[in-house]
Order: sequence, then C-alpha cells, then structure tokens
Amino acid sequence: MSTRLTTEQIERYSRQIMVPDLGGAAQMHLRAARVLVIGAGGLGSPAAFYLAAAGIGTLGIVDPDKVELSNLQRQILHRTADIGRQKVDSAKAALTELNPDVEVKTYPVRFDDSNAADIAAEYRFIVDGSDNFDTKFLVNDTAIKLGIAFSHAGIVRLQGQTMTVIPGKSACYRCLFKAPPPPEEILNCQASGILGAVAGTLGTIQATEAIKYLAGFETGLLTDRLLVYDAKNMKFRDVDVKRDPNCASCGDKASRS
Ligand SMILES: [Zn+2]
Repeated sequence: MSTRLTTEQIERYSRQIMVPDLGGAAQMHLRAARVLVIGAGGLGSPAAFYLAAAGIGTLGIVDPDKVELSNLQRQILHRTADIGRQKVDSAKAALTELNPDVEVKTYPVRFDDSNAADIAAEYRFIVDGSDNFDTKFLVNDTAIKLGIAFSHAGIVRLQGQTMTVIPGKSACYRCLFKAPPPPEEILNCQASGILGAVAGTLGTIQATEAIKYLAGFETGLLTDRLLVYDAKNMKFRDVDVKRDPNCASCGDKASRS
C-alpha cells in the first residue's frame, strides 16, 4: 500500500480531511484500519455505510441471515430486490458501490464461541450491532481477551444505548451488566419493535466512535459512560460506568487464557 493518498482519494475524503481534528494523517490511519461489524442489521447498516464512506481500508461483516421484507424498515444496506439474499452479500454490494476503495470481507455465519476469536483477531475495532445478549457478551469477552476496542449498542422501541470499550483502560460491558438477563425480561426487536431511525442514530454514533478511535483520538471517546437515548422525549443522558475490579471479563482475577 502506498504511503500517500491518491488525488482521487484526497478529493473523495476532502470534507473530513478539512476537519482540524482529522486531517490527512488521520485519513491514512483510516485507510490502514480494519473494522469488524457484527450484524448487517439496524445498527450495522448505518455503521458500515459511514465507515465505508469514510475510507476504512477493510471492513468485515458477520451475519448468518438472509434479507427479509420486515428488515427493510431499518436495515438500510439492503434493498427490496435483495429479499432472500444473504445479508453479507447485499451488504458487500452496497458498500462496494458506495466506495470501491474499501475491501469488504464477508462471514455468512453466526458469531459464536467456535469462530469468535479467529474472526475478531484480524481486526482493530469491532462495532457490535448484534441483536441478542449472548452475542453482546461474547463480543465483549472476545474483545477483552484479544485487546480489541469496540462499540456496544442496544436498541428497542424508541430507546437506545451505547458505550465504547477500550480493553485495559475503560469499563467493559460486563462491568456494567454482569450477565445476560433472564429470557422473560428480554425485549428484542422481533418481539418489541424498533423505529428504524433510532437504530440509525445509534449505529451512526458507533461509526463515529470507531473513526475517532482509529484516527487516534485519545480523549472524548464514549468510555466509562453509557449514553442513553430516549427518542420519545428526545433526550440523551450519560450514565457513569466504573470498572469493576471483580469483573468476570476484565477484572483483576479474570482468566485471559
Ligand atoms: Zn469488565
């Protein structure tokens, strides 16, 4: 890979290169960066679009599902004509059409214990756009073990929450939530509904955090606090999160084997 941006790249990314906190050096970092997006759904779609548009060099997309009609209200990577197609394939087509500079790697599998470490190890940042607690805890524990920063997000109905985790530096998802809730307490999109634009807001925040981290921002990340979005009353609030020394994932006695 050349050590300079091409004339075309400079033009494509000019509006973000102009931003004083970013600039050409940050653009080079983004071009060299590898980001894994778990789920090509309501969160992963806007996140992947903005990451591709911003010139992230390599995007990995993990999703075992095929596009369904009821996905299209929020999963904006996919079109009506994509119904029945593997989500990772329609995601790759949409992202490559937007920005052919980006290499898109596809994993048409469920991110689970058998493959999590192998897939994640190739990446420097993970956007967790999964829709279930088991995967969210697995993403957290895998990222902590491998030392990969990630963005958590969850959405339901007209609410969302998000937090960025930097292993070894900030509180993790398990510091906050300990373990998945019992099944009877779980609200998910399928059972409870979700407004597409709410997913879009949260996924876009996740992309912003990924770009800031990869561009080298050392302060201002959404670490040690959970951002809670209440779209019904159009309010955002921060909840402080402290690192738990007894956390089963990142605590002092946690096994990292
Ligand atoms: Zn922890």
